[in-house]
Amino acid sequence: MPARIIDGKSLAASIRQRVAIEVAAYQHEVGRVPALHVLLVGEDPGSMIYVRHKERDANEVGMQGRVLRLPESTTEQQLLGLISELNADRAVNAILVQLPLPESIRASRVLEAVDPQKDVDGFHPKNVGALWSGLPALTPCTPLGCMRLLQEAKVKTKGARALVVGRSNIVGKPMAALLLAEHATVTMAHSRTVDLAERCREADILVAAIGRPKMISGDWLKAGAAVIDVGMNRDQDGRLCGDVDFSSAAEIAACITPVPGGVGPMTRAMLLENTLSAARMQAGATRAPSA
Ligand code: NDP
Repeated sequence: MPARIIDGKSLAASIRQRVAIEVAAYQHEVGRVPALHVLLVGEDPGSMIYVRHKERDANEVGMQGRVLRLPESTTEQQLLGLISELNADRAVNAILVQLPLPESIRASRVLEAVDPQKDVDGFHPKNVGALWSGLPALTPCTPLGCMRLLQEAKVKTKGARALVVGRSNIVGKPMAALLLAEHATVTMAHSRTVDLAERCREADILVAAIGRPKMISGDWLKAGAAVIDVGMNRDQDGRLCGDVDFSSAAEIAACITPVPGGVGPMTRAMLLENTLSAARMQAGATRAPSA
């Protein structure tokens, strides 16, 4: 039986609707709307599109979305100075530094400079540590979106064997932490994993975050597996595709996310949720002393 398609596009649309209602309630309570500032250094074509989407998404749900565009020649010191100003500005609730940064700027220094309470990408070491320690944290948007897709498809995580292919700080590692927190038995695979196909065949839940077009085919999957495809690649004909070969995988899996229309829209929706959470956290912190 062909797999059920997990529709990230419609789930993301319903999340945006709910966030818009909550933004209005926040505004009523706090007297202003949550504000997201996205920093873009240089003119990477992909990044320019992504930041425009982030700004537009935020404005569409009634938040203030703003892109600060900086020239390629911006120095690390200048960027750190700007982040420090935004950290201190109480009207700014959320700061996102679009990656990749130019080579002359150390991304780790920059990400560590963002106030953890405004770090809506969840990349600050404090948020990373909190995630692995089971403490409240701003969590990276893509893995958070993947978990919502699994919930939406009613996939049982408790006791399930989960395989995460890819170990980046942005997707693979936080994905593993979230699955572990939901009681899955988690294995992480990467480019040095021996016999990857066999590891895939053992997985009840497979998350592919590799960046290799259609690398995982249906005959690598366990029958009835849940497949979340994070990959965003171009195939030989220039069409957008995932890390999973969708047509053969859909014959074997119980449910699968499409590319496009799966993880991508959910990543964007989770950024809005994180921005709202950050704003609420800060409003709570400001109210606390006078309470
Ligand atoms: P990275 O390049 O940072 O990481 C890729 C990971 O895949 C690495 O851990 C690498 O292993 C592993 N890998 C590479 N080749 C193989 C292989 N042949 N076998 C097994 N593992 C392999 O990528 P990201 O995590 O940033 O992104 C992964 C994919 O997800 C990309 O296609 C990206 O575009 C997409 N993406 C999509 C998002 C969305 O919203 N839909 C958001 C973020 C990313 P090693 O560590 O050993 O090198």
